[in-house]
Amino acid sequence: MAPKAKHEMTTGKLKQAQTLRAAGHRIPEIARLLELPREVVRNTFRGKHRPIDDKPQRCPKCGHMVQMPCFECDLEAKKQANREARLVSSQEG
Ligand SMILES: [Zn+2]
Repeated sequence: MAPKAKHEMTTGKLKQAQTLRAAGHRIPEIARLLELPREVVRNTFRGKHRPIDDKPQRCPKCGHMVQMPCFECDLEAKKQANREARLVSSQEG
């Protein structure tokens, strides 16, 4: 298992960042979703930060060829965690 992402902008994350930006997300939101420091995201958009290359891999969850970690599955996992958190708090209340 590779060590957990070291907050590096990769070509895969850049594509996701550009997609999010095109969808109207702000840099702080993009940084949070991609788990990157805001400065890295901002500098990459300004062309001051060069993303590192990463090659597509097959996602073990959805089976698509993606830049790991799989953005779709990651987002889905976060939504699921939120739903569970809400369920727990509603049961406690
Ligand atoms: Zn996936």
